[in-house]
Amino acid sequence: MHELGEQALWLDGNALAGLLEDVFATEMTRSKRTCQSCGSSNAIGAHRAYRGAGVVLRCPVCGDLALRVGILPDRYVVRLIGEWTIDASAAQARGNRAT
Ligand SMILES: [Zn+2]
Repeated sequence: MHELGEQALWLDGNALAGLLEDVFATEMTRSKRTCQSCGSSNAIGAHRAYRGAGVVLRCPVCGDLALRVGILPDRYVVRLIGEWTIDASAAQARGNRAT
């Protein structure tokens, strides 16, 4: 990061892969979201991630909000915006139920 300003602050959505996997118990970057504002459908990993007091994901096409995560000492508070299609591995889901 060599530039100042907003462009330097965003990361690719793949930067949130670990956090999203903690929240959803599955790998999320290949899941899709359809934007409530522009109607485009994009993989979560293609969204833009911004870090501040928490984390925000924005639509890569129009920049509208897609996800807001508040990071507290013992929990994440997650708000999803738009239509998310979560593509979870069935093997992983079965594993979670077995434990
Ligand atoms: Zn959009």
